[in-house]
Amino acid sequence: MVTVYKPDAATAAPLADPAPADAPRPRHPEKAHRPDSELLRKPEWIRVKMSNSPVFDETREIVKANKLVTVCEEAGCPNIGECWSKKHATMMIMGDTCTRACAFCNVRTGMPLALDTDEPRRVADAVAKLGLHHVVITSVDRDDLPDGGAKHFAQTIAAIRNATPSTTIEILTPDFLRKDGALEVVVAAKPDVFNHNLETVPGLYLKIRPGARYFHSLRLLQRVKELDPTMFTKSGIMVGLGEAREQVLQLMDDLRSADVDFLTIGQYLQPTRKHAPVKAFITPDEFKSYERIALSKGFLLVSSSPLTRSSHHAGEDFARLKAARKMLQARA
Ligand code: SF4
Repeated sequence: MVTVYKPDAATAAPLADPAPADAPRPRHPEKAHRPDSELLRKPEWIRVKMSNSPVFDETREIVKANKLVTVCEEAGCPNIGECWSKKHATMMIMGDTCTRACAFCNVRTGMPLALDTDEPRRVADAVAKLGLHHVVITSVDRDDLPDGGAKHFAQTIAAIRNATPSTTIEILTPDFLRKDGALEVVVAAKPDVFNHNLETVPGLYLKIRPGARYFHSLRLLQRVKELDPTMFTKSGIMVGLGEAREQVLQLMDDLRSADVDFLTIGQYLQPTRKHAPVKAFITPDEFKSYERIALSKGFLLVSSSPLTRSSHHAGEDFARLKAARKMLQARA
């Protein structure tokens, strides 16, 4: 295989043989030569309805007019009908191309374009037009940038604060692996919720999240709390990738040791035949059981259901998170 792009040997996936010059570039060049895996039929509890609400179209227009990328579309999120009908869109900043190549993720991979310095303003403008009380901002991994995009995150937070000071801000960040000082820049911008997803149990990292390191991600979450103990921290995983139940319970303990407040658990859905296969559809009862156990381990809030996603119902969950902390403080 000829490696055509390697922004960071340790973190980025090498790309496959170059295609003929006139061939359309595949969305996931690193997966093009992988064998197909069977797409399992979804159980009835996974079915989602598309929306024909005019609000959905309005959301799409605002996103398009502001030239924004959303993770709702890029990741093929099953909740888009519901969320966009309420004007809840999760912006994905720093472009549509990721320098990692995780086996579960549908976001385009390759060499991203230069940062768009006007993007923070346009994100803030869209937040104002959508009338969002709570917004979730995420991004692609930018291993090619010296700070991993930390400053761009901070500028986006500042632009939203400036445009709509009452909007609460949740960020879902990459891991800033080998980007010294990056995390500090983002925390200093004071988002209300800092989310970084572990995605899966450590035993599956090599297969599912090969460019990341489990203990680095855990440490990142712990460090956020050390830097600002008032900041809410949140993390999420997908299940159905082949993890064992005991591994999930251990991961819960790991997150509690890092003082993480909020855990989300959702079903992994395979985007294409080239992505990691679904190994199991976890039943709604098993999700409930995870929720009960996680709450007993001390999380302030747990969302565990087949269609749980990091940003699903994020605004309502933020209100519940604040109420749960208040109650805990009143009891102390
Ligand atoms: S759950 Fe999140 S990513 Fe999915 S559609 Fe809703 S806001 Fe977008």
